[in-house]
Amino acid sequence: HVKKNGGDDYSFSMDNQKIHMDRSLLIELELKNALINNEFHIVYQPLINLKKNNIVGVEALLRWKNKQLGTVSPGEFIPILEKTGKIIEVGKWILRTVCNQMKRWQENGIFLERISVNVSPIQFKEQSFIDDLKQIIDETQLDASYLEIEITEGTILEIANVSKTLQKLQGLGIKVSIDDFGTGYSSLSYLKQLPIDTLKIDKSFIDDLDTDGEIIVNTIINMGKNLRFRIIAEGIETPHQLKYLKQQQCHEGQGYFFSKPVGHEQIPILYQELQVTK
Ligand code: C2E
Ligand code: MG
Ligand code: MG
Ligand code: MG
Repeated sequence: HVKKNGGDDYSFSMDNQKIHMDRSLLIELELKNALINNEFHIVYQPLINLKKNNIVGVEALLRWKNKQLGTVSPGEFIPILEKTGKIIEVGKWILRTVCNQMKRWQENGIFLERISVNVSPIQFKEQSFIDDLKQIIDETQLDASYLEIEITEGTILEIANVSKTLQKLQGLGIKVSIDDFGTGYSSLSYLKQLPIDTLKIDKSFIDDLDTDGEIIVNTIINMGKNLRFRIIAEGIETPHQLKYLKQQQCHEGQGYFFSKPVGHEQIPILYQELQVTK
C-alpha cells in the first residue's frame, strides 16, 4: 500500500516495515512493469491542413495510467524511461501500436497522409533502431511512407552519425520532423543539408502571437518555406493565432483549438467533422 504524505514523499507498508520513497523513485519502480501490465495507451492529436481545413495526419502521444500514481504526464515519466533505458522497449511498443492503428484506419476508409511518432534520442541512437523499425514495418505491413518520426534539435545536434540514420530512414521512405523547432540551437541552413521534411514551430512561439510576438513565427515560416520544409504550428489555442498563421500561409496546425489528443476511436469521428465544419 502506498500513501502520499504531502510534498513528493510516499510511504509504503511492506512486511511491517515503513519505507519512504520520493516520487521519482516510485515512478521508476512502477514503470518497470507498466508495459506488461498494459498501463500504457496512445492518444492521437489531429494535424490540420490550414488551407483546406481537413485532418491530414495525427501525432501519437503516449499516456500512462498507474494504479497507485494515477495518470502521470509524459513530461514526468518519459525522462525516467530514458534514464533507465526502458524507453527502448516502450518505444518499440509505441511504433508497433501506431503502425497497427494506421493500418486499421486505412482498412476502414480513414485516409491520413501520415502518422507522426515521437522518438527519444536514446531510441534514435540505439544500434538496432533502423532494424527494429524495419521489422515493425514488415510485421504490420504499413506502407512506410505513411510514417513520420519526430525528433528534436537536441537529437540532431548531440548524436553522432545522425545523418547516416536520417539517410537510412529516408531510404525506407519514412519522413522526419523536427519537434519543438526554435527552442534549440540548430540553424535552418544546417537542417536543410539533412533529409528532413517538416518543422514543427514550438508552442511557446505560437503563444507569443497573442502578445506581438509575430516576428519569430513569421521568420520561421518564410525561411522554412523557402527551404522547402513543411511547416506545422504546434499548440494553436486561439482564433487570433489561427488567423495569423493562415495569413502567413503556414501549411499545417495542431492544437486544442482543433482538438486535444483523443483515443483512436474518436479519430474517424473527427475526420468526418473537421472535413465539413472548419
Ligand atoms: P510534443 O511532442 O511537443 O507534443 C506536444 C505536446 O503538446 C503534447 O503534450 C500535447 O498534448 C500538447 N499540446 C498539443 N496542443 C496543445 C495546446 O493547444 N495547448 C497545450 N497546452 N498543449 C498542447 P503531451 O502529450 O503531454 O507530451 C509532452 C511531450 O512528451 C511531447 O511533446 C513529447 O516530447 C513527449 N512525448 C509524448 N509522447 C511521447 C512518445 O510516445 N514518445 C516519446 N519519446 N516522447 C513522447
Ligand atoms: Mg511531438
Ligand atoms: Mg512539440
Ligand atoms: Mg515538447
